[in-house]
Amino acid sequence: MKCQCQHVTELNGVEAQKYAREHLEKIHVDGETWEIEYLCSETNTHLIMDFPQSELQGGGPPRLRRCA
Ligand SMILES: [Zn+2]
Repeated sequence: MKCQCQHVTELNGVEAQKYAREHLEKIHVDGETWEIEYLCSETNTHLIMDFPQSELQGGGPPRLRRCA
């Protein structure tokens, strides 16, 4: 998958999952908030996946954002 880390600011749902799975390296999972930190090894960009609708059954759709 082509690197979009420098251009994308936010991905949601299936798109976020697919991008993380196919392109990013998981480096940390926060056991309390369930935020997942990812690294793009091509650009050394850090991204965070969280679940803003975590009250929904199953945790709701993921959101993937580039770290500032
Ligand atoms: Zn990338």
